[in-house]
Amino acid sequence: MIYHPETYAIPDERMKPFIDENEIWDFINKTANPTKERVREIIQRSLDKHRLSLEETATLLNATDPELIEEIKNGAKELKEKVYGKRIVLFAPLYVGNFCVNNCKYCGFRASNKKQVRTTLSEEELVREVEALEDNGQKRLILVYGEHPKYDANFIANSVRTVYKVKKGNGEIRRVNINAAPLDIEDFKIVHESGIGTYQVFQETYHRPTYTDVHISGKKSDYDYRLTGLDRAQEAGIDDVGIGALFGLYDWRFEVLGLIRHVNHFEVCYNVGPHTISFPRIKDASEYNMDDKWRVSDEEFVRLVAILRLAVPYTGMILTAREPAEIRDEIMSFGVSQIDGGTKLEMGAYSKEDDNQDLNKEQFKINDNRSLGEIIDELLDKDYIPSFCTACYRLGRTGEHFMEFSVPGFIKRYCTPNAMLTLAEYMEDYAKPEVKAKGEKVITKNLAEMEEGKTKELLKERLEKIREGERDLYF
Ligand code: SAM
Ligand code: SF4
Repeated sequence: MIYHPETYAIPDERMKPFIDENEIWDFINKTANPTKERVREIIQRSLDKHRLSLEETATLLNATDPELIEEIKNGAKELKEKVYGKRIVLFAPLYVGNFCVNNCKYCGFRASNKKQVRTTLSEEELVREVEALEDNGQKRLILVYGEHPKYDANFIANSVRTVYKVKKGNGEIRRVNINAAPLDIEDFKIVHESGIGTYQVFQETYHRPTYTDVHISGKKSDYDYRLTGLDRAQEAGIDDVGIGALFGLYDWRFEVLGLIRHVNHFEVCYNVGPHTISFPRIKDASEYNMDDKWRVSDEEFVRLVAILRLAVPYTGMILTAREPAEIRDEIMSFGVSQIDGGTKLEMGAYSKEDDNQDLNKEQFKINDNRSLGEIIDELLDKDYIPSFCTACYRLGRTGEHFMEFSVPGFIKRYCTPNAMLTLAEYMEDYAKPEVKAKGEKVITKNLAEMEEGKTKELLKERLEKIREGERDLYF
């Protein structure tokens, strides 16, 4: 068990609120004006593969000297290259319904927004969307729902089952993740049984007064119920969970420490950290009128992602199309493990092939409109290996990010070969000829760099089988 002495969480603190605002501010205040030596020592601790403590993370947050900021960014880059290599996992969000009983000030779906056109995909419409996504080459989806009695556990579980059943051509969805409201334990069990991957619930802000201020009414206005949501998921058997904070609601340094405190709570109570961390920044939305007191600048955003990478080196990090392509490209090198591609938020938009956003039919504005094909093309240009791998989840190897990080040789034996196999499938079935040629080059280069041995021989055989028409081969 990973235990940090500063943590007061003990196993019977499960399902109890664990954020202490004063504790977080104390860490921020007492680490002000850190010395260069101290900051460098902390970066090195992370490079030596230690999860950082709250005190150490707060010290990095307080490093404002441009030279140190550069060292933090370089440290995150080095960690990513050293541990994770060049893979980037791709997925797409699929909004199932935008009815919502809550009033979250920042969200276009909030109940009081009369301009929002409400829709729930019917089963046929859901199938059409999944077919369109499969036609583009997607293999991993995250289903997203507003919070509404219509979207109860059985509804969510049924939509997951529907998605898994859709098979168009060589297409299939191999992993369905969820972003929805937190549930009770019995309801989480129902969703778990449908075979989901990760269940994501973002706390939005860990700062209780701000939380109360922005969640005006509805079930979501209960801070503690939200905070303990993923504890109930764990109790229901969902050990693959994703946490997140919506940056722009409160001081970003406080939110980073809130996320680390959440990680720390999971480690102590469940002996496993969260599977992923998300760090969405607030974007424009229908009838949006929040002040921008806590707006996070691009420079601060880049810093916070690098600090998160160093603080929790074993966790998957997700960067979405909320951010423009240039920011995504820059931040990807700091250790982001998953990005979405070809993203559309309007319900039904994947099958309509309509690229224009209508905020009155969507949750917020996205800033990266590139298609999946364009993103893959650009990833290949930058020497990344785009991956659709779902092997660990399907072989029951849970906690794969942790294994990637901690099991020597895991990435070489499993992740890189699986990334190459899924890329090879994509190239055979969906890529334009010039992208296919680039993909071939990346695969040849990575094969050449692999150590001789059984894995390499098997990989060559499997790549050949994919060229001959076999699918879904993995290690
Ligand atoms: N309704 C569920 C809930 O609130 O948990 C599902 C989540 S919501 C559909 C997905 C996430 O989008 C939210 O948790 C929030 O962090 C984010 N979000 C909401 N409004 C946003 C905005 N204006 N800009 C960026 N992200 C936003
Ligand atoms: Fe509803 Fe979620 Fe939007 Fe809040 S963030 S209004 S709960 S969809």
